[in-house]
Amino acid sequence: MTVGVLALQGDFREHCTVLRRLGVEPIEVRLPRQLAQVERLIIPGGESTTIGRLLTIYQMLEPIRVRAGRDLAIWGTCAGAILLASTVTDQKQGGQPTLSLMNLTIQRNAYGSQLDSFEAPVAMPIIGEMPLRGVFIRAPRIVALGVGCEAVGWLEDGSVVAARQGRLLATTFHPELTDDDRVHRLFLEL
Ligand code: GLN
Repeated sequence: MTVGVLALQGDFREHCTVLRRLGVEPIEVRLPRQLAQVERLIIPGGESTTIGRLLTIYQMLEPIRVRAGRDLAIWGTCAGAILLASTVTDQKQGGQPTLSLMNLTIQRNAYGSQLDSFEAPVAMPIIGEMPLRGVFIRAPRIVALGVGCEAVGWLEDGSVVAARQGRLLATTFHPELTDDDRVHRLFLEL
C-alpha cells in the first residue's frame, strides 16, 4: 500500500512517524509526480492558508481534486480538514485556496484565543469504544454537514470533530500527536 503525506508545511513528520510505526513507509508528497505514486494521502495540521498557497504554487490543487474523484483516499487533520471543506468561515481576509472536496462547513480558529489549544476526550465509535485523547490546536469547528457527509467523532458536548464522506476523512484534532494510532489504522482501511 502506498501512502503519501502532503509535506508542504505543518506536522507532516509526525504523521510519517506514526505510519512507520504501523509498518508503512510513507511518501512525502510535494509535487504532482509524487502524488501519482500514492493511493492515500494525509494532509497534516499546520496553517491552512500557507498550505493552500503552496498547493497553488506547486500546481497541486487540481491534480488532488482529480485523483479524489477517481481513487484517492484523503484524510485531513486540523488545517487539512479546513482544506477539505466545501465552505470555510472566518477565512483569512481575501479568501484562501482550498480543495473543497467534502460537503461540510468549517469555522477556522473557532475556539477563541484563550482556548487556542486544549485536550478533550473524543468519542469515535468507528474505531472502538474507548474515547480518544483529542489534541486541539487552534482548531477549527465543523459547523454543518451536508449530503453524503456523516459525523464520526464527537466531543462530550455533542459537537462534531470528525467527519467522513466515502473515502474522505476530516478530523479537527491531531491523532498524530498522541500514541493512539487507531485513526491512522482506520484511514489505512478506508
Ligand atoms: N488554525 C489553523 C488554520 O487555520 C489550523 C491549526 C492546526 O492545523 N493545528 O489553518
